[in-house]
Amino acid sequence: MDKFSVLKQYFGYEQFRQGQEKIIDAILGGRDALGVMPTGAGKSVCFQVPAMLLRGVTVVISPLISLMRDQVTALSECGIPSAYINTAMTEKEYNWTREKIKRGRVKLIYVAPERLMTRDFLSICKRIEISLVAVDEAHCVSQWGQDFRPSYLKIKDFVELLDKRPVVCAFTATATPRVRQDIEKLLCLENPETALTSFDRENLYFEIVKPKDKRIAVRRYLDLYTGRSGIIYCSSRKCVDELCEYLESEKYSVTKYHAGMSKGLRLENQELFKYNKKQIIVATNAFGMGIDKPDVSFVIHFNMPGDLESYYQEAGRAGRDGRKADCILLYGGNDVRIQQYFINHPEENDELSDEEKEKLKLLRKQKLSQMVAYCEGEACLRQYILSYFGEKSERCSNCSVCTGVLTSVDITLPAQKIFSCIKRLGEKEDAVTVRDVLKGKITPYIEENGFGELSTFGIMNDTAESVIDEYISYFISVGYVAVGKSGGLSLNKCCKGILRGEKAVRRLSDRPQKRTDVKTDVMLLVKLKKLRREFARKASLPDFIVFTDVTISAMARIKPKTVTELEALPGVSRSKIQKYGAAFLKEINRHCSEKS
Ligand code: ADP
Repeated sequence: MDKFSVLKQYFGYEQFRQGQEKIIDAILGGRDALGVMPTGAGKSVCFQVPAMLLRGVTVVISPLISLMRDQVTALSECGIPSAYINTAMTEKEYNWTREKIKRGRVKLIYVAPERLMTRDFLSICKRIEISLVAVDEAHCVSQWGQDFRPSYLKIKDFVELLDKRPVVCAFTATATPRVRQDIEKLLCLENPETALTSFDRENLYFEIVKPKDKRIAVRRYLDLYTGRSGIIYCSSRKCVDELCEYLESEKYSVTKYHAGMSKGLRLENQELFKYNKKQIIVATNAFGMGIDKPDVSFVIHFNMPGDLESYYQEAGRAGRDGRKADCILLYGGNDVRIQQYFINHPEENDELSDEEKEKLKLLRKQKLSQMVAYCEGEACLRQYILSYFGEKSERCSNCSVCTGVLTSVDITLPAQKIFSCIKRLGEKEDAVTVRDVLKGKITPYIEENGFGELSTFGIMNDTAESVIDEYISYFISVGYVAVGKSGGLSLNKCCKGILRGEKAVRRLSDRPQKRTDVKTDVMLLVKLKKLRREFARKASLPDFIVFTDVTISAMARIKPKTVTELEALPGVSRSKIQKYGAAFLKEINRHCSEKS
């Protein structure tokens, strides 16, 4: 097997992304490697593909216990034998895993850095052949990063203790040269091949607003994002508690996360968000490192963070799946003062001398002023961020500065027409019938059922069919309209107020419209998502581990008829075909024959 067939067979992808191939080739050629790539760039593939091609085992060092479990679950869904070892597992689980490893049943072992130098783990390592050590979140080795972990300094000792030095590769999304140098030096990388990809995340839209009332602003955005998954970051625990309570009282599907909550509750809430049981999570910056949810479609900062590294890292949790996503920063109020307070009252850190503490304070002050300049400035937001990370770029035309002041359009009238038509049709007719009635088309079906007599017949005859379709898709996607098992449209509760004229419907004039892909068969998309949910529920997996949104959308667009056609879609690996292929093809075929 070669790297391309591993990529296709196990991950379902045809091509490598920028930087991946360079790293993989270096590792396969026996050379150390360093990947500096933004979140969502696909760092895991860089060590997972070689792991399948090299003899023996790859040890992956990862600081995040919760992510380890997710990664191992995701890998086994792809048919890759892997295991993790951390302090959270029971003795029984541990013994079982140890046996599996010793018997050579595992290609990748995920391990927490604290575990590396334990006698037990070292004795396991003596009995197996380790060809590759991959260090994830490698910036944790540097005191200059925000997430310094002393146990990362032991990684080099661990590597030295092995009988034969394996290839060592390291990955980070922190771009500053100082951190990069630290990684090379402190992990003792030997002449590493380095892939430094652009930090631009093209699918992210950046916006800064200075609202009079941040809560009202948040609600305006949440109404726009109905049905989508998102994070709201606040600068303090108190603010998280208050905002979450407020949004709950306003009936939003919301949960919260901060370090003041018990570990059990934090985990519980994190899972609610991950499994889409709650759409929104309000959190401090304590949330995020341990979660790798690809379908987060917006990140709102209720407060400004203290530096652009933190901002970009947190905002970057949106759109990991490559789909369009929004990063909104609500700036104003006490934001600057709060950050100044944090700088002047830092957390205790015994590992730093007084002199180092002063240096750090100064550095943080500089960073804060650059963050404020980002919020106050008039330059393209993306250009500003990228130049901060040392990259040159053009104006982006995908941020609130480039697109000018956003205008939101009132679409209450078409909403009322469409909703009342759905109602008159008894909330059981499909989107095609609803559109035909609105348009005033006389089809045999409409004649047979006497729909021509309805008061809503032809009330949108001056609107193009494609525009009506687009409205309907939009109302489905934001949750106003639901689609039943047989495709019948019905109204959600919130439509009542709109029909009575008590509530307006607004939509941002540019982006969200562009985002709706007209070629996607929305009805099919809904059905496929439902099917995915059923599989996920049965196996207690998050939806995205069964198939990501990218894959599901491709199915609803391309409508594959055969296994070969299905396999050609991104993210469809061989093991997924075996597990889910037949069911999804059946659903697609049924939908297509119903339509025709
Ligand atoms: P990172 O660790 O850099 O944040 P991940 O490794 O989690 O990113 O990958 C982000 C997403 O990109 C995942 O859904 C992954 O499956 C996908 N991905 C990785 N490599 C490719 C590729 N070559 N083609 C398409 N998608 C890819």
